[in-house]
Amino acid sequence: MTCNLKWTDVVKNLLLCQIAANRPDVCKRVFNLKKDYLVDLVRQKLFGEVMAYVYTVEFQKRGLPHFHMLVTPKQNSKITNPNTVGQFVSAEILDPNVNKKLQEMVMKHMNHGPCADWCKVKGKCSKRFPKSFQQETTMDKSGYPQYHQRDTGILYEKKGSFVVDYRNAVPYSPTLSTVLNCHVNVEVVSSINAVMYIYTSTFMK
Ligand SMILES: [Zn+2]
Repeated sequence: MTCNLKWTDVVKNLLLCQIAANRPDVCKRVFNLKKDYLVDLVRQKLFGEVMAYVYTVEFQKRGLPHFHMLVTPKQNSKITNPNTVGQFVSAEILDPNVNKKLQEMVMKHMNHGPCADWCKVKGKCSKRFPKSFQQETTMDKSGYPQYHQRDTGILYEKKGSFVVDYRNAVPYSPTLSTVLNCHVNVEVVSSINAVMYIYTSTFMK
């Protein structure tokens, strides 16, 4: 989850002529409230019964407060098949006629691109966007999902005239994106590398 400098709670607490970047104290306080709310939702079984969780908070990731959380579900709540993945995680932009609010959130916060210096390595996107079209969600032998990202032929224009389709969507939880209004990437993981990722991204800089 990444801080949104345009959260209403941030903007309404700025003084005249201030922008959010002038008030890291306000941003940090609002971010912490949203982060605590997210943790509460998870504890209240948003993704099923929780056996354990761990999180790290960074306050310098590209200048914005940033939070990683790894949740280990109880055995009866483990996500082990593509249908269950689809109940919690989406990787499509959505039809605005179906859910306009969520579609706007996804367009604002859950799309990758255009690629820039921060994600490019040797001229290529290190996050591997755009992904390949995928007719349905599948899971490989280790339980790692390839998310449903259909080729509908529909293109969506982001601010700055950058055109995207479903391949640019970053996996998200419709519930969390709706209530938090910020970048919240949610993925099903099955490897111990996820633990390494959240610790190394925080402490190995
Ligand atoms: Zn990129």
